[in-house]
Amino acid sequence: MSDPARIKYEPLAVEGRRQALWREQAAFTTPPVAEDRPHLYIKPSAPFTSGNIHIGHVRSYSIGDAYARFRRARGDDVLFAFGFDAFGLPAELGAIAGGVSPSEWVARCAEHMQGQLERLGFSFDWDRAFLSSDAGMYRWSQWLFLTLLQAGLIYRGTGNVDWCDNCETTLASIQVEEGGTCWRCHGPVRLVEMPQWYLRISAYVAENDARQSERAASGKWDEVALASQQIVLGRLDGVELDLPAPGGLLTVFTPHQDAVAQARFVLLSPRHPDADAWASDPAALAQLDTLRTGGWERSSREAETIPVIDTGRTIAAPGGEQLPVYISPVVDSRFGATAVLGVPAHDRTDEVIARRMGLPEEPEGEPATASRPASRPAVRYRAFDFTISRQRSWGTPIPIVYCESCGTVPVPQDQLPVLLPLDIKPTGAGNPLAEIDEFVNTTCPSCGGPARRETDTLDCHFDALWLWVPACVPPDARDGSLEEILALADLRHWLPSERLVAGSDSGNFVFDQRIVTKALRDIGPLAFIEDGEPFAGCLFHEMVISGGRKMSKHLGNVVDPDELVARYGADTVRLAVLYAARPQRSLNWSDSAVLRCNRFLNQVWDYTHAKIALAATRADSEANSGSGTAQAGPDGEQERDQTEHMRLRLSKWCETGVEKVTEDMEALEMHTAVRNVMRLFDRIKDFEKRAVGRQGELSDANLAALLDALAVLAQMLAPFTPHLAEDLWSSLGRADGGASPPWPGVSLVVPA
Ligand SMILES: [Zn+2]
Ligand SMILES: [Zn+2]
Repeated sequence: MSDPARIKYEPLAVEGRRQALWREQAAFTTPPVAEDRPHLYIKPSAPFTSGNIHIGHVRSYSIGDAYARFRRARGDDVLFAFGFDAFGLPAELGAIAGGVSPSEWVARCAEHMQGQLERLGFSFDWDRAFLSSDAGMYRWSQWLFLTLLQAGLIYRGTGNVDWCDNCETTLASIQVEEGGTCWRCHGPVRLVEMPQWYLRISAYVAENDARQSERAASGKWDEVALASQQIVLGRLDGVELDLPAPGGLLTVFTPHQDAVAQARFVLLSPRHPDADAWASDPAALAQLDTLRTGGWERSSREAETIPVIDTGRTIAAPGGEQLPVYISPVVDSRFGATAVLGVPAHDRTDEVIARRMGLPEEPEGEPATASRPASRPAVRYRAFDFTISRQRSWGTPIPIVYCESCGTVPVPQDQLPVLLPLDIKPTGAGNPLAEIDEFVNTTCPSCGGPARRETDTLDCHFDALWLWVPACVPPDARDGSLEEILALADLRHWLPSERLVAGSDSGNFVFDQRIVTKALRDIGPLAFIEDGEPFAGCLFHEMVISGGRKMSKHLGNVVDPDELVARYGADTVRLAVLYAARPQRSLNWSDSAVLRCNRFLNQVWDYTHAKIALAATRADSEANSGSGTAQAGPDGEQERDQTEHMRLRLSKWCETGVEKVTEDMEALEMHTAVRNVMRLFDRIKDFEKRAVGRQGELSDANLAALLDALAVLAQMLAPFTPHLAEDLWSSLGRADGGASPPWPGVSLVVPA
């Protein structure tokens, strides 16, 4: 007698067994470059090395992993690997809290996170994993810095940063508490101006915009990813016109193209090249100077309180009336570093500024009825150049030295990497890197005289600009020279990435990666990416929330993936996050999805094993009686008559199921795919019920058909619940050497 209870579903045992086999077979090693084979690079997001994989990561990697396994099962060569985003503030704060150096902290965190991810069974090629804080990796950030600097796309400017006088340090915005105080000492925070390194993205913003429609037309960018790019772009359509100014013309922009005649003032960004000339009046210049160097209170960033400087000068509007000229940083966040017309009648912010500056409600005299001003259509983008340097110690050292005789000198490429001292212990105050004499004092690469190193480091956002590339480099080529790596066929083979799967908060990263790819295309190293697009496809998923709110320790609503895995197994957790919601929607966590998916997997397991046992029992009794052939004759005839149409229908259901799920998988609609797989299981059970109802028992032919259908089910479950699916596939006697099942209809045997 078969006893399915004997083979109980024990996820922890099954998962341990499969994972050991994967390791033994190096199942997820990236195949070597073979141009004639279909191949793709799936780019998962690079996690901050925070120490723990959270349920949002599980969602993200379950989508990417299902896609990677699906494509492998179809016979494609897949690169699926990532690096840890290990530099930056989160790691620095973690190290401060843990009382260790940041390098120790991130090494410990990455190890723990890798363990968690392996336990979940994600098919990353771990041999290609890396930390962005490895010297072999951050030399690429330094290479990128020098390359862009030489091309004029990085420049030195001044920028406003949040500064704490007590801690003598700049603060990231997340370190500024509500109410504008310092996270560390709770003292006041000021915006001050400091020299900064800038990335000139403006050179490629318009191309990113122009290529947006191609992204949309490709069908490989989902709606959230596309929308994120529009938001970062911040495109404003309007008109611009030239007003006569003392030294020539001043070009002003307005999005209110029908209201040019109602303009009441002109507003300049403090970063506008002509701002100083307009503020030539000593009082105005002093104010501009204060604005730039002294900073202003963090609370004063709204239209009601943001500084507005009256230059005391006017400019002639197209209608002839004189418009006062003001300077204010309010322009920057709305239009970029430009000059705009103030149109209080049509613009709430302009209305506030007009009132604050004491402009009369109505213009004096008759409104100008002069001819329409000569304006031309124009576009402004809110996306503008941003700073890439930070006054912090845990980051990529900027390869620049300051020499008394030569000035600012880039470190030559062949002297990279400029190594970051590893024994730094940040406290949150000052910049510890600036206090290490051995780091700071150096010789000038140009004249050999004494020089000082730049002690600002690169923001980890800058590392991210290149972080999508190193996974393409085979581990044994990683230590090669920069030239060797750039010449590798591997880069040309795997890039651009076929699909990025990342959280919906990655819009800025992706936008800037798209910018830099275009720059490197034009400079040369990525010339083979003709459209300058690093990702052919992009899927942005929303986050996992709980009780309708963002998960936080404070609210006590954090879902711990480790706990769930220990209780239900990785397959259940993976299936549940895919089943619970479309990627483009927030996943409001509830245990019911986990319970539902766990019940489903238990049923599939028990059902399949019961049928395998039944088939084994029959084979045994047939062998013992030796009379199998004698009975088959008349019974078989009868059976064909009665139930052949049912078997045909089952096979049709399988076929349709495969078609649908294949389509879903190609579109990364895992949520629908899972439902279609579940539906097929219902139909398989339904077939048995009808067949037994007709004949009183399951005939041999019907059992065989059922086992075939269950094999198809296992094949289609494999991307979602790989451990269980492969184990069943193997128990069904279909596995050949423990390999993962191919996709239904696909033969993975490479023809000779
Ligand atoms: Zn402070
Ligand atoms: Zn020098």
